[in-house]
Order: sequence, then C-alpha cells, then structure tokens
Amino acid sequence: MNLERVYLKGDRLDDVDNYHFNSIKNALTMSREEIIQKVKDSELKGRGGAGFPTGLKWQFAKDIDNDNKYLVCNGDEGEPGTFKDRYLLEERPLKVLEGIMIAAYAVGAARAYIYIRGEYINAIKKFQDVIDKAEKKNILGENIFSSDFSLELRLVRGAGAYVCGDETSLLNSIEGKRGRSRIKPPYPIQKGLFDNPTVVNNVESLCCAAEIFNEDSVEFSELGVEGSRGTKLISLSGDVNAPGLYEIEFAKVTLNDIIYKLGQGMRGSETLSFIIPGGVSTALIKAEDLELPYTYQTFEKLGSSLGSGAVIAVNESHDLLDLMLNVSRFYMDETCGTCFPCREGNRQINRILKRYKDNESELDFELINDIGNTIKLAARCGLGQSSLSFISSVINNYSSKFKSGGVKYA
Ligand code: NAD
Repeated sequence: MNLERVYLKGDRLDDVDNYHFNSIKNALTMSREEIIQKVKDSELKGRGGAGFPTGLKWQFAKDIDNDNKYLVCNGDEGEPGTFKDRYLLEERPLKVLEGIMIAAYAVGAARAYIYIRGEYINAIKKFQDVIDKAEKKNILGENIFSSDFSLELRLVRGAGAYVCGDETSLLNSIEGKRGRSRIKPPYPIQKGLFDNPTVVNNVESLCCAAEIFNEDSVEFSELGVEGSRGTKLISLSGDVNAPGLYEIEFAKVTLNDIIYKLGQGMRGSETLSFIIPGGVSTALIKAEDLELPYTYQTFEKLGSSLGSGAVIAVNESHDLLDLMLNVSRFYMDETCGTCFPCREGNRQINRILKRYKDNESELDFELINDIGNTIKLAARCGLGQSSLSFISSVINNYSSKFKSGGVKYA
C-alpha cells in the first residue's frame, strides 16, 4: 500500500518569481483539442463532489462558438468536514492558477473568476497576492508566455452562504445578485455568467488538471484504476486520533486504511460506528463495510457518494438523534429559500425530529422518507437534492434504535 503523497509532497508553491509554470507552458505548446483529449484520457472527474468528467465538460464548452466564454474556479468550499481546497489555495496557489489558465486556454475563455469562501481570509490574501504578482510579470494578461492566449483573472470573496458553493448560486453571487440557485438545464456551459457559456471547476479539479500537464509528475492516468484515476485529497475528521488532510491514490487504500492507518484509529476507548464519506450531504457507511478500496465505484455500490472526500468518523458514543438534528438544522439554515421543496421540506424534517426529541410524537419514518424523496426529486440544486442523504441513511440503517413515544437512541 502506498500512502505517500503524490502531488502534495515538497514545499509550498506560492513564489511567483521562482516558479517555473511548466504545466501551462507545456499546455500552450498543444492545440486546444489535444489538451482536452489528454484530460479526457486522464479520466479526471470533478473533485467538488459530483464527479462529472472534466474533459467532457471542457469539450462541451470548447465546442460552443462564443467569444465571451468564462472560466470560474469554485473555491467556495462549504461542505461540513471539507478543508482540502483551503489547503490548496493557501499552500499550492500556483498549481490552482496553472489549472485555471490551462482550463481557460482549452475552452477558449479570456476571462476568469476565482470565488473563494469569505471565511478563508488567508487563502483570499494569498491568492490575490499571486494574481497581482502574476499580472506584474505578464503571466496573466495579454499574450501569456508569448502565445496567442490572454487571460484576465478576478477574485471574488464569498459572504458566508453555503448555497453559493452550488455553481449556479455562485454565478448569481459573482453577478452581484442574491446567492440563490438557478434551474438546470441550461447548464452553466450553455448559459452561465452574464448569460455566457461558463465552465465552473472545483479548486482540486483544476490542481489535478495542472498535474496532468506537469511532465515532472507521475502520469495521472497510471494512478488508480479505471473509473477512478489519479489521487484524491481526503479531509479526515471526527473521532480519529490523527485528523487532517491526506492525499491517497485511488484504489490503493481501503476505507479502513483511511481510519486506522492515516487516522491512526479511533480516539479513546469507543469503537467506530460509521463514517460519513463525503460531508453531510452523503449517506453514512457502516463500520463493517469499510474493507473496500477507495474508489468512486465503491461508494456507488454502497449506496453513497465520494462527495468532496470529507470523511467523518463517528463512534458509538454519539446520540443519533442529535446528529440528525444538527444536520437538519444546518440545511434549514442554509437553504436559499427559493424553491419550496427544499425550504419547507427541510423545515418540516427539523420539526419532526425536534418533536420526537421533546417526546411530543413518534418518529414517522414513512413521512421522513416521503419528504426526503420529494426534496430529492423536486429541489432545483444540489443543496436540496442531497440534504436528506445523511438523515435518511441513519433512519434506514438504525431504525431499531428509535422507538415510539420519544424513546431516544440508547
Ligand atoms: P451536478 O451533477 O448537477 O453537476 C456537476 C457538474 O457537471 C456541474 O458543473 C454541471 O454544470 C455539469 N454538468 C452535469 N450535467 C451536464 C450536462 N449534461 N452538460 C453539461 N454540463 C453538465 O452536481 P452539482 O449540483 O454541481 O454538485 C453537487 C455535488 O456537490 C454533491 O454531490 C455534493 O457532494 C457536492 N458539494 C460539495 C461541496 C463542497 O464544499 N465541495 C459543498 C456542497 C455540495
């Protein structure tokens, strides 16, 4: 098993004056078609949570004939338990910059934005500094590295809304509008920023793209297995001895390795009950199912999702009802309120859980699943669609722990 960091090894990369920009220089020697083919061949999937094939997204955008395309880097990392993009923005901003430049060049965008979560003050400072220095050295601007590629990059700071991590809400926010979601389709590549074709890529996805064009690096497509290529950053938290950020190669570690080798096992004397594999918008996976390799396929097989790679380990001491209430409260607060199923559905779920906690009623599983399915089917963005993933999985896996008349998890 190889637990060595593949791309994250070495010193921080933030010194514009002494950085070689090999990836973007290499990409600029290739045609746009060749770049996109290479990304397709790499099998890179979006690292924000949905796992959409990056090469395909770039291909769709490139094929659109429009001179006003945009590239947007989504750094509004808000999924509870996720802190990988923060690390990349603070410690590897030049990799992120190279990824933005390669993507913009490939799809034919001359303007780009990076939207960073407002609470990430150091990342914002660091990245603005990188942009300013790159502009001074003409690494951003007209005819970059004497090529026909020009790029203007602007940083926008988020204002604390989780929903702005949803790409359509993020686009509204950049436009100066209230951060609320748009109906998809049309997808942003069809009608995005200021109604123009826009590619939105996550920070980690763009770092991976930069590595794909880094000739000094390990060949991306040689890492992992078919369907799960490259490496993945894991934000590990919860009841483990060594929480932190780890880089793993797909399929080379099991979920148990993540908890017991990287995380050095469970803290204290409690045993592991389950993990939440990709932040609170994903379904839990029970401790007995963790002897499987870390791949997209594994999560699909287990009825969950890899999400953003935020693995939260939960031991047996926690009250399941309190966990559900906590998550429910989060979604009730963070819904943008635009679509009825998400706004009212999450409010009702919270009410049902609270009434149960206060011994006012029994826990009606059927009603919870009914509301959950309605939100999943009818909510217009990922926030609503995945808001019941964790709560439904608790109910489905631990129904016997909840008794009528308000008897709580023993
Ligand atoms: P999605 O499946 O709707 O889309 C994924 C990406 O592919 C988007 O960029 C979308 O525009 C594009 N896309 C999908 N189908 C397309 C098509 N036919 N043509 C062109 N482009 C297409 O998912 P989403 O709503 O963007 O994201 C949901 C995910 O976000 C969840 O899985 C969740 O895990 C994750 N998430 C992450 C964070 C975080 O902090 N990283 C926070 C909340 C949620």
